[in-house]
Amino acid sequence: MNGNRSCLLVPLLTLALVIATSVLLVVRQRTARPTAQLSPELQSVGANTVLGFDLEAPRGKLDTVELAVRQGDRRVVVITESLGATDASMGWGATMAADSLGLAEGPATLELVVRDAFWRPLGPGDEPTLTWPIVLDFSAPALAVSGASRYPQQGGAGIAILTSEPDARVEVICGDQTFVALAEANSGRHVAVFTLRHDHPVDLLLLARATDAAGNVSQRELPSVIRRGEFKTGQVTLKQEFLERKLPELLPNTPDLNRSQLADAFLRVNRDLRQQAAGKKHELARQTTAHPQWRGAFVQPRNTQVFSNYAETRDYRFDGDTLDTQVHLGFDLASTRQAPVPSAQAGTVVHAGPLTIYGNTVVVDHGLGVQTLYAHLSSFAVETGAQVGRGTVLGRTGTTGLAVGDHLHYEVLVQGYPTNPLQWWDGRWMRDHLDGPLVDANSTYRVAD
Ligand SMILES: [Zn+2]
Repeated sequence: MNGNRSCLLVPLLTLALVIATSVLLVVRQRTARPTAQLSPELQSVGANTVLGFDLEAPRGKLDTVELAVRQGDRRVVVITESLGATDASMGWGATMAADSLGLAEGPATLELVVRDAFWRPLGPGDEPTLTWPIVLDFSAPALAVSGASRYPQQGGAGIAILTSEPDARVEVICGDQTFVALAEANSGRHVAVFTLRHDHPVDLLLLARATDAAGNVSQRELPSVIRRGEFKTGQVTLKQEFLERKLPELLPNTPDLNRSQLADAFLRVNRDLRQQAAGKKHELARQTTAHPQWRGAFVQPRNTQVFSNYAETRDYRFDGDTLDTQVHLGFDLASTRQAPVPSAQAGTVVHAGPLTIYGNTVVVDHGLGVQTLYAHLSSFAVETGAQVGRGTVLGRTGTTGLAVGDHLHYEVLVQGYPTNPLQWWDGRWMRDHLDGPLVDANSTYRVAD
């Protein structure tokens, strides 16, 4: 009996070992492989497209990656790279110069093979981790300048009408400022109002650029000649009493500032809060409507005296020192205290509330990226979202924010960038410099009377 048992035990144990080993091998072979996601999920790939992927290995570390393109029965490897087997998840990107791979324009499939460092008995396998249908498109988008302001001025605005493909992103680039051209419905025309900074050089090249969905870029020069602007310098003398009164209002949690802290606090207000306000203007600019809601000259508040110059470089003096220098990119208008403030044009109120150094502020969107800003108000007569007409009272002047006396600080903004308001009060300037190019380009838009 005993002999029979031990005779059975050996094969049973062997069988158990074989089963256990097989199970282990199968489990190892079936362990989840790496995953990959295309990010962003592109539909088309151009002559020079950066592809990004999020890679993840549920077990082990990411070891190698291979990016290939399949078109018909051809498979072309774009790149193979070692990932170092140190990370379980990572972002990985590659630039694909699709036109130099010998492939044709049209449909193709991206294949990404990601391997981890986890040992599997039958190896990692060849199946792609990710396949993604794309369209290869190497052709630069059509782009023509159909109309443009001939003589924009430093600190002033202009317009460009560009003809391109409907789905292209079309922009006007003025040095460090970029303006999106908004598509005019069913026309192929893209219209951008743009503005130059007061210190842009007169020999700056103004460029139109179109980028298609595949990232292909066309660029043209605008036929514009920049005229020189004249800008003044000024001085603001800060009194201790003014700083003691204003700074606690503008800086929360600073009720008592002694004389030596005033200068620092003023710099924080004049620099940091001014910067914050600039950011907010760009944010509001994105709410613009694609078509112009304005027509004709902008309204200047009645009986107001302009007591500043556009783009005046101001030295802020305190205690015999120059504390700061800033460029004043608006106009200060004064009449009587708490005077009514009319909207310069028809539009939509996109902001009615406090705005850092501007105090109580209303911003009205007039469409096509053009907005007007009214600051230091003592009261509001409108709320955000309100539709206003040309001349609708928005509120009353005051001294909120960094204002020395009761006045209206007024700005005209183009996609969030300040521009010289003087031009917009001048119906003839609007006709010559904005409407003229629209007519040249056969646009359906009119912005002058
Ligand atoms: Zn001002």
